[in-house]
Amino acid sequence: MSEHRSLCEKILVVDDELAMRKSLSLLLSGAGFEALAAADGAEALSLCETAEYPVMLLDLQMPGTNGHQVLTGLLQQKAGTRVVVLSGETSFDAVRDSLQLGAYDFVRKPYPAEELLTTIRNALASYHQEQERVRLKKTMLESEKLHRYIVNNSPDFVYVLDKNGHFTFVNDTAEGLLGYTRDELLGRHYSDLVFEEDLPLARYVFNERRTGERSTRNVELRLKVNTEQRETRTFDTHLLPIELSSVGMYNAGYTGDPNKFIGTYGCARDMTERKRAAELIHFHAYHDQLTSLPNRALFEDRLGLAIAHSKRNEKMLAVIFLDLDRFKLINDTLGHSLGDQVLQGVAERIQGCLRAEDTLSRFGGDEFTLLLPQLEDQRDAATVAKKILMRICEPYLIGEHEMFLSASIGIALFPDAGETGDSLLRAADVAMYHIKGEGKNGFAFFQESMTAGWGEHLSLERDLHRAIEDEQFSVFFQPKVNSSSSQIVGLEALIRWRHPIRGLIYPDQFIPLAETSKQIIQIDNWVLRTTCAEIRRWREQGLPPVPVSVNISVVQIEQPNFVQGILSTLAEFGIPGHLIEIEVTESGIMKNRETTALKLRALSQHGISIAVDDFGTGYSSLSYLHQFPVDTLKIDKSFVQQIKEGTSDACIVDAIVAMGRGLRLHIIAEGVETEAQLSYLQKIGCSEVQGFLFGGAQSAQQTFELLRSGVMAKAPACPLEDLNIQRFQLTTSS
Ligand code: C2E
Ligand code: CA
Ligand code: CA
Repeated sequence: MSEHRSLCEKILVVDDELAMRKSLSLLLSGAGFEALAAADGAEALSLCETAEYPVMLLDLQMPGTNGHQVLTGLLQQKAGTRVVVLSGETSFDAVRDSLQLGAYDFVRKPYPAEELLTTIRNALASYHQEQERVRLKKTMLESEKLHRYIVNNSPDFVYVLDKNGHFTFVNDTAEGLLGYTRDELLGRHYSDLVFEEDLPLARYVFNERRTGERSTRNVELRLKVNTEQRETRTFDTHLLPIELSSVGMYNAGYTGDPNKFIGTYGCARDMTERKRAAELIHFHAYHDQLTSLPNRALFEDRLGLAIAHSKRNEKMLAVIFLDLDRFKLINDTLGHSLGDQVLQGVAERIQGCLRAEDTLSRFGGDEFTLLLPQLEDQRDAATVAKKILMRICEPYLIGEHEMFLSASIGIALFPDAGETGDSLLRAADVAMYHIKGEGKNGFAFFQESMTAGWGEHLSLERDLHRAIEDEQFSVFFQPKVNSSSSQIVGLEALIRWRHPIRGLIYPDQFIPLAETSKQIIQIDNWVLRTTCAEIRRWREQGLPPVPVSVNISVVQIEQPNFVQGILSTLAEFGIPGHLIEIEVTESGIMKNRETTALKLRALSQHGISIAVDDFGTGYSSLSYLHQFPVDTLKIDKSFVQQIKEGTSDACIVDAIVAMGRGLRLHIIAEGVETEAQLSYLQKIGCSEVQGFLFGGAQSAQQTFELLRSGVMAKAPACPLEDLNIQRFQLTTSS
């Protein structure tokens, strides 16, 4: 290596005598060095500025810049060059001065060649040693800097303890993480930092003495944080969860006993984020995203516990199943994001009706379940159910929409309705469906008898197929009357199904089914044709023309040939448009707003009028109403039925009537059953009504008689289907 190196080693010869320069150069190149020469001191210094010469052979006495001045210049340049002074001058002063100025060695002229070469080789070795030392020092400094940087910029708290457990080093992270400055920590015992409950564990691991495999890794502890200084964090401001790794330090590498324990090196990782993430994941596993309520899994878990508890204490508990009525329509027409807001609002309202120990959970979609543990009396469950129903009925303001909801609730009591979580949930579900069948918006306790009609849906759907062909359907007509004159102003066609086995089935029980299976299209067409046929018959019999409204399902409107279908049916029976009104529910209108508006406008242009049915339920589409060619609003019977004798706060009805008048629309109230309701409606200027008070729907033949007599009032009680409800006799202003 040194042989190879000497080949390219540069040696600068500085001498004013040409002969000397030549002979030295000869000697040096002969020995394998690369010799360069300078004729005076100034030239030598300028050469050294541009290149590094490991060794310089320097003459002291030169004209101009002499040898001492060159040495001084090199010192200033901080060049590493080893200078071998080669001079005839051998005075003590000259030698001392040269050495003081940093010369490496001194060789007297005339020089013995071997001695000079040896000196040069020594000088070269010294030069390279120094170079290596500088390089090492530099890398060490750099690596120390690097390590310091790594340690201080580590997100972890890095520390060193002495053998007694006092901090001797802490990194910069300590302050941000723990809120103590370095000075506050150095010299302190680690136990000052550890949360009391975790001290026993900390004693075992914090000032670890073991090394290698047996040292501490990833032990969870909590450290006490100086909250005054530490930037505020939202999680837990007093305790910092950490994961600790530590290892014992021994004397190795130092003088003295290498087995002597000198302290601990440790590293503590902040676990806050990970803990928070874990808690979040856990939370989401057991809670519903939308409402943050417990989900099905958590509910079933709590139900299991509550049942066990009830068995021990011989207490009752209630499982409640709640399903929102017609919620699908909200989603379909207003979109899911508004639907979600409604669900959140509903959840909040239900929660407001509960005790702290009750559990409300979102089971999925618009289904909620409740667990009421430790019941004293089953009436308590009924009270809660009523409270919830009332809260849910209050109007919702979602953005610009005001909407109304109701719910169906089933209640199952432990132990009567079931002894396991599953059986209780199923029982509550059955009771809830029972309420749906009974017209929704109510609650029921589970009873064995409710399971009897189970599986009914399936067979009904099958039977629907045959109903049209076998002429099991018929159309009934319910009169619409002027609220002050009681004159018949129109009729509503309502379908009836005479099932060969079950008898009379009301549309609420099969229309939703027919909509799902799309059989409604055929059914609605049939109703319209039958109605048109009746109108033609009445006309042929010379009766005065009466407009008839037919209910049209949204599924029907969605059909591409909807408009054409209606117009051709009317044409077929020769019925003018103004004798037909179409009743579409509010939600039906809102679905596919633009195309629906176009279709309804086309009908409207043929004189057919459009009524919004069940107005005010589900949600309010007031702001969109003007987009549709609407002629009539039908106030839903649920609002009318809120009008009670002596009350004056039927504000929804008031609002609809006032608004309808403002929009110059006909207003008709449906489901009028009492005189109190009638007189209230008259008072607020609702001119048309429909309801059992005046008569329910009757067969075509009965309706024909009713219209023909023209003195309906005096034809007492046309037998009104099988509804046993008190009625008001129709009086015509003949
Ligand atoms: P709707 O269009 O709101 O019809 C009014 C319902 O209220 C009728 O029930 C009617 O018999 C009933 N009703 C009338 N007066 C009173 C009253 O004073 N008190 C009470 N509580 N109810 C009264 P129905 O005939 O059972 O029809 C139920 C629903 O089925 C209808 O509600 C309508 O949405 C649908 N529907 C009936 N016929 C058809 C049809 O031909 N096609 C379509 N698509 N739907 C129909
Ligand atoms: Ca209707
Ligand atoms: Ca209605």
